[in-house]
Amino acid sequence: MKYTLLTPGPTPIPPSVLAKLAEPILHHRTSEFGAYFMEVVERLQRIYLTKNAVLVISSSGTGGMESAVANLVGPGDKTLVASAGAFGDRWGKLLKAYGHSPRMLQVEWGRAVDPDEFEKVLKAEAKGLACVFLTHTDTSTGIVNDLQALSRLVRRHSDALVVVDAVSGLGGEEIRTDAWDLDAVVSASQKGLMNAPGLAFVSVSDKAWSKAERAAGPRFYFDWRSMRDSLPKKETPYTPAVALVVAQAEALRLMEEEGLERIWARTAQLSEFTREKIQGLGFALFAKNPCRVLTAAVVPPSIDGKALVKRLREEYSVSIAGGQLHLMGKIVRLAHMGYIRRPDLERGFEALGDLLQKLSPAASPS
Ligand code: PMP
Repeated sequence: MKYTLLTPGPTPIPPSVLAKLAEPILHHRTSEFGAYFMEVVERLQRIYLTKNAVLVISSSGTGGMESAVANLVGPGDKTLVASAGAFGDRWGKLLKAYGHSPRMLQVEWGRAVDPDEFEKVLKAEAKGLACVFLTHTDTSTGIVNDLQALSRLVRRHSDALVVVDAVSGLGGEEIRTDAWDLDAVVSASQKGLMNAPGLAFVSVSDKAWSKAERAAGPRFYFDWRSMRDSLPKKETPYTPAVALVVAQAEALRLMEEEGLERIWARTAQLSEFTREKIQGLGFALFAKNPCRVLTAAVVPPSIDGKALVKRLREEYSVSIAGGQLHLMGKIVRLAHMGYIRRPDLERGFEALGDLLQKLSPAASPS
């Protein structure tokens, strides 16, 4: 049976990207690899909409997030996290792991950060604030934050850096790194960027670089300065995930061929399709401020959400995600980012409809 991956990361990848992963491995200190590496850096600049260099790190997205904490936050620095879900909370956990005590603005799961509430907290915390940590699309709840508005408020009230987790947002959801004045934006290979898991990316503004130069915290593998120093040589400081870099160049080539604005529009259409379909199956939408890269929906009370996800995978070869933490078993999450296209979603819904029919033949819609 054809395997259909509809999880919000990893996501399926195009055949030509898969083929690149199967090519013989290049040595990483060669002009051949250097050409691929620089292609990735330059194409990423056009996806991030930034003139700044984008760092390529061999780690998952969380490594990119950790690198931002390690390079931008020093001992005693005051930080604020605006969290609307599990990935916002991850910023808080990371900061604590590095010995910091972030102020946490916690938003009810399912809602985006309210700019008015954010402004109140910002005003109270503005004095000496060094860094504000935001999430673009929180994959645990399916919301999108208004990064442009939040970033503008940070600028209005403080001198803090704006650091963004766009791990699931970049590619499918509108984000304009330079126009929205975002100092560091973290993403990863396995979602909207149509590659296998294993690479993290971070754009770094001039303002963030000047902080990274003087930040006093310990860092080694994730030291952005060594990555930047290797860039003119078209290299990374340590052995990179060579195959993933080569494949990423191809995936970004495909994205540029389609065009960023067109990808955003297509993703929005897929999200509308998904919202309509899932509601048609009796699920309520979970996110009050839904993003366009994934849909979170509440499982009807008569159905065991955990079993639903498991049976869908085992009996229909359709992989969707369940809820995280307190939402486990209560919501399902379907992605429509990256290489996921309408026929994949149609197949997923066909399977889901069939399974629901089996679970409660009387209750499910015909
Ligand atoms: N942030 C967000 C918004 C994510 O969706 C994810 C991955 N689910 C991460 C961070 C963490 O990325 P990774 O699993 O690649 O470390």
